[in-house]
Amino acid sequence: MVKKSNRRKFINKSLVTLSGASLLSSCLTNEDKNETQNININFNKKFNWKMVTTWAPNMPVLGEGCNLFADWVQKMSGGRLNIKVYGGGELIPSLESFDAVSNGAIEMGSGASYYWAGKIPSGQFFSSVPFGMNSKQMNSWIISGGGYKFYREIYEPFNLIPFVGGNTSMQMGGWFNKEILSMDDLNGLKMRIPGFGGKVLSKAGGTAVTVAGGEIYTNLERGVIDATEWIGPYHDYLMGFYQVAKYYYYPGWHEPGGVLEMIVNKSKFQSLPSDLQEIIKKGIESLNIWMQCEFDSKNSVYLNKLLNEENVQLKIFPKDVLKSFKDKSNEVLQEMVDKDPKSKKIFDAYEDFRVKFKDWSVVSDKIYYEL
Ligand code: CA
Repeated sequence: MVKKSNRRKFINKSLVTLSGASLLSSCLTNEDKNETQNININFNKKFNWKMVTTWAPNMPVLGEGCNLFADWVQKMSGGRLNIKVYGGGELIPSLESFDAVSNGAIEMGSGASYYWAGKIPSGQFFSSVPFGMNSKQMNSWIISGGGYKFYREIYEPFNLIPFVGGNTSMQMGGWFNKEILSMDDLNGLKMRIPGFGGKVLSKAGGTAVTVAGGEIYTNLERGVIDATEWIGPYHDYLMGFYQVAKYYYYPGWHEPGGVLEMIVNKSKFQSLPSDLQEIIKKGIESLNIWMQCEFDSKNSVYLNKLLNEENVQLKIFPKDVLKSFKDKSNEVLQEMVDKDPKSKKIFDAYEDFRVKFKDWSVVSDKIYYEL
């Protein structure tokens, strides 16, 4: 009975929407009139904003995307909102962008929430966690599955509004100068792998080291490190890692869908007229889509290049190694949630969504990719 009445409600609602199209347009006109009266925008007023990023200036996809965003905003606003984009280190050091946007010295910033793990540990659930959700799942959780509520809540004390501003998509496992055949091969392995992934590798017997982006190539070439992860085939190709490491491993268990973040100073955002606020929101939504399309499209082309033109040896991590990484990841996550009640609350919501989405993926994406 319940189902029947729900169906009736849905049909009635749909019919009203369809048959009421002309009625709706006249209603909207009245609403628009009211809104126009209330908004009272001064169209001659211009706003000049700054955006700091944690990316190298004009870095492919990440920096390029921020430049594109500023261009869209300038065009959509008819030149009323101009955003000057600064690469990491150009105006302030990359990792100072959180404080600068928080205190309002700078209006907005592009980075990733795990950079601020020291200030907001639970923020890491809005970047990427080992064996966690991929880009499709993260978008679904944050945008439509309730994630935004938590994301906004934890940034509120810093006077910041966080947005999902892109995704690296599934990353690769990394470049190794020796084969990983069993857990024994991880013993003493020195790998450049930051954040969560690094903690997991250390628990699995390896040594996680921090190396600045510009020094990874020479460190790998000289044997200072045995392995490195970076992003995916496109960026890894540009870094030239295939020239100094033999084996390219997958999957990127440590970063299955790296969410990129746009932070906006809340007071500055609220001081904008409502149309410019909407332009920023829609611009960031477009950037989120553009970055993912760009990553996936370029990665598919450059994986092919690496394999067919550079004869890279593509390897999958052995099952027992992946199992161990997964067990250690669970330990790292458990330690994190035990220490921080906010992380526990968000992790519970994250896990609940991930498990439900997994069931859906089995009958949708998974089977389809196997056909
Ligand atoms: Ca990475």
